[in-house]
Amino acid sequence: MRPLYSEQQEMLAATVREFAAKELAPRAAEVDESEQFPRQQFKGLAELGLTGLTIDEAHGGSGGDYRDMMTVVEEVGAACGSTSTILVTHVSLGSQTINQFGSTEQKDRWLPPLASGEKIAAFALTEPQTGSDALGLTTTITEDGDHYILNGTKLFCTNAGAADIFSVFVTQDRSAGYRGISTIVVERGTPGFTINPQHGKMGMRGCETAELVFNNCRVSKENLLGKPGDGYKIALKILDSSRIMIAAQCLGLARGALDAAVDYARQRKAFGSVIGKKQAIQFMLADMATELDAARLLTFRAASLHDAGLPYGKESAMAKLYASEAAGRIASKAVQIHGGVGYFKPSVVERIYRDQRVTEIYEGTSEIQRLVISRDILGEMPE
Ligand SMILES: Cc1cc2nc3c(=O)[nH]c(=O)nc-3n(C[C@H](O)[C@H](O)[C@H](O)COP(=O)(O)OP(=O)(O)OC[C@H]3O[C@@H](n4cnc5c(N)ncnc54)[C@H](O)[C@@H]3O)c2cc1C
Repeated sequence: MRPLYSEQQEMLAATVREFAAKELAPRAAEVDESEQFPRQQFKGLAELGLTGLTIDEAHGGSGGDYRDMMTVVEEVGAACGSTSTILVTHVSLGSQTINQFGSTEQKDRWLPPLASGEKIAAFALTEPQTGSDALGLTTTITEDGDHYILNGTKLFCTNAGAADIFSVFVTQDRSAGYRGISTIVVERGTPGFTINPQHGKMGMRGCETAELVFNNCRVSKENLLGKPGDGYKIALKILDSSRIMIAAQCLGLARGALDAAVDYARQRKAFGSVIGKKQAIQFMLADMATELDAARLLTFRAASLHDAGLPYGKESAMAKLYASEAAGRIASKAVQIHGGVGYFKPSVVERIYRDQRVTEIYEGTSEIQRLVISRDILGEMPE
C-alpha cells in the first residue's frame, strides 16, 4: 500500500490498473498508429463510471474528488497516453466547465449524458493567432434576439473529432479585454459549426484533434455559461484545476517508461551480464524513480489543496511544470536504457517519449507555469 492514498483510492487504482492492462495497453500502439478516437476504450472507461468522476451524483456522476481522479488518470496514462488525454479533456476540462459554471437547467441538460459517456466533451480556447495569451482571442458573439451569432476559428481542440458538447470561449467586445470574454456551449451538428480534423501530431495521436470553424453559427442564449463576461475567469479556474490532471497523466507516462526500462535492464545482456548490473544504468533508474516520486508528491499536494477548498493555483502550476518536465527526462532515459530498440516502434518507450512532449505545451506551456509560480512568489512589486 502506498502511504499517500486511502484504502478506497488503492481499490480504485487496482480496478483501473486491471482494466488498463487488459483493455488499454494492448491497443495503445494501434490507437497511436491509426490516429482514431478509441471508442471501445472510452466505452470501457464509461462502464467503470470513470467518465462521470468528479461530476455530482445528482447529475449522473460518481462524485469523487481530485485525488480519486488523479489516481485514475495515472493508471490510464501508464497504459495509453492518448486515452488519458481524452479522459482528462472530457472530465476535467469539458465536463467540469459545465459542472462548475452551469445553471441547474444546463447541468440537467448536458451532464448526465457526459457522465455516462454517451456524449463526449471538449474545450475550445486556443485560436490560430493566440494560445498562451488567451486575452487575444477573436472568436466573436453578437446578439440576435434570444440567440448569439458566433464567428471565428478555434485550433488544436482535443477530442473534437468525436465530441458532442463543446465549451467555447468567445468575445463580445474585444475592447473590454477580459471583461468581454464569455463561455458558450455549442453542440455538434449546430448549423454553421464545422469540425476540420488536424492530422500529423507527434504524439497523443488517438485524441482526434481538430480545428473548429464558426460561420454565422446561431446558438441560443440559454447556452451561455455564467454571465456575459465571466469567460476569462472560467478559463483560468478550469485550467488551474485541470493542470493537476495533466500532472497525474505525466505520472502515468513516467511510470510506464520506468517500468519498461526496469524490465529491459533486468533481461538485456551486454559485456557478459544483464545491463541492470551496470552502475550507469542503475543510477539512471534511481534518478527516474526519485523524480517520479517527487512529481507524485507535488501532484498529490495540489489535489489535496483543491479537495480541501484551499488555494492551489501555484501548487497546481508547480505540479504540472515539474511532472511534465520530469516525465520528459524519465522517458528520455528509458529510451537510452533500451538502446536502439527504444528508438523503434513498437517499443513502448518510443511512444511514451513522443506522447510526453505535449504535456510541456498544452494547458499552459512550461513558460506559462513559471510565470504563474513566479508571480505568486514575487507578489506586487514596486516599479
Ligand atoms: C496536441 C494538442 C492538444 C491541444 N488541446 C487543446 C484543447 O483541447 N483546447 C484548447 O483550447 N487548446 C488546446 N491546445 C492548445 C495549447 O493549449 C496551446 O498550444 C498552448 O497553450 C500554447 O499556445 P500556442 O501554441 O499558441 O503557443 P504560443 O502562445 O504562441 O507560445 C509560443 C512560445 O512562446 C512562449 N511564450 C508565450 N508567451 C510567453 C510569455 N509571456 N513569457 C515567456 N514565454 C512565452 C510559449 O511558452 C511557447 O514556448 C492543444 C495543443 C496541442 C499541441
